[in-house]
Amino acid sequence: QFLGNPPLTLEKTSVAAPPESQNFHWHGFTQMADFQNIVIDHAEGCWLTTTSGQRLFDGVASLWCNVHGHRHPKMDDAIRTQLDRVSHITTLGMSADITERLAERLAEVTPGDLKHVFFSSDGSSAVEAALKMALQYWHLKHSTTTPASEPSSTTSSTSTSKTRYLALSSAYHGDTTGAVSLGGIKYFHQLFAPIVFTPVRGPLPCSYRLPDGVRCDDACDFYAGKIESLLKQHHTELAAVVMEPLVQGAAGMITHPPGLLARVRELCDQCDVLLIVDEVATGFGRTGRMFACDHEGVTPDILCMGKGITGGYLPMAATIARPHVFEAFLGKSSERKQFYHGHTFGGNPLAAAAAMASLDLFRETNLTATIDAKSRFLRGCLAPLADHPHVGDVRGRGLMVGIELVADRESKTPFDSDQLIGRKVCERATELGVWIRPLGDVIVLMPPLVASDDELRFLAKTVTQAIEEVLAEIG
Ligand code: PLP
Repeated sequence: QFLGNPPLTLEKTSVAAPPESQNFHWHGFTQMADFQNIVIDHAEGCWLTTTSGQRLFDGVASLWCNVHGHRHPKMDDAIRTQLDRVSHITTLGMSADITERLAERLAEVTPGDLKHVFFSSDGSSAVEAALKMALQYWHLKHSTTTPASEPSSTTSSTSTSKTRYLALSSAYHGDTTGAVSLGGIKYFHQLFAPIVFTPVRGPLPCSYRLPDGVRCDDACDFYAGKIESLLKQHHTELAAVVMEPLVQGAAGMITHPPGLLARVRELCDQCDVLLIVDEVATGFGRTGRMFACDHEGVTPDILCMGKGITGGYLPMAATIARPHVFEAFLGKSSERKQFYHGHTFGGNPLAAAAAMASLDLFRETNLTATIDAKSRFLRGCLAPLADHPHVGDVRGRGLMVGIELVADRESKTPFDSDQLIGRKVCERATELGVWIRPLGDVIVLMPPLVASDDELRFLAKTVTQAIEEVLAEIG
């Protein structure tokens, strides 16, 4: 059975010693001096097998993107079939039929009247495209004259004052320079301050750590109020608000108060500012709806997607815009209104074939409709953790879960980051047969969406054991 079975016992299998490494491969977000690599030989369903034969449950869906499990026969067949037709062509001036069909399908599955799809290869690039799209949109809206000559290379030829973005505190939108500019995570972003632009910085709408005096029921009003005052103050210079919807993943699975996204949509409309929603992590069923925006009936002006778009099989991302955005770019060639942006591999046919197969599977298996029940089941399996003195919060939406470990539960005081608690828990979980990666002391659980109840139970049980053992060791 292609989903594979969890190991019957929780034997202590040790992680394979890495082969003699000369670090030819430089891994991202990784201290290479003490890096113990785990080399995967093959995978099937929700399970990875290392070159030394250890089976690991893929607890973070290969960095939040695997949807239908690894080596799903339908996914593999679709890619093979496309391989026999064409692997790659440019989308500058032409495209493959599969890419055309995919654009139409994406317009169907995304919220409201989102329709015009711009393809790229990773989530960061989808965000970069959205930023440039929003700025050029306002430039075109505010242009009164046709550019008569080539723009000067030294002065700005932008005809709008709306050239800035509002991003939330602790935002994460990727690692390219524009995305880093929006980012608000200290260790990821501060170092690069000299080469980035400065956004208008919004609050961190964190439901777990509410400011003194703010009650749960008032949290949405409180944060919407903060965003409203920033929008009122800066709307003439703001091209767009950029935000992750409902859950800020890389910030530590920070969950927003319900209703906030819908409030931000209203505020953007009132203040004539575009809304860019980054669904790179939340899109494609992860939160229990096809897109997180669907929970609040929100249609952003521009939506960014990546990760799960190809079921997690091949690199692809997309930025989809509503007609009023797209139409601002239409005109005669001499008006030079075309979107000045494009990627070599955008819309790649193999990736498009994977994305089409993934959407077919969503439809055939009604996968999104199963996520709420799976989420409740996983939460139920994690319930014993609620009494643990160092588990501060178990949060998230759908199969996007964060377990925050704290030094003091009452005061919500974090552990000293040098204690590397999150990392130790994940290393122990790996020894026990589950591959997960922490965000600081937040243990992230993002299994493939097809994970069975047995597999979710195994994930929860193993992670609970790892947390208990590591915290017992430190006393
Ligand atoms: N946006 C969000 C919300 C993300 O979570 C990520 C990656 O985790 C990105 C953008 C960047 O995507 P990529 O790593 O594919 O560039």
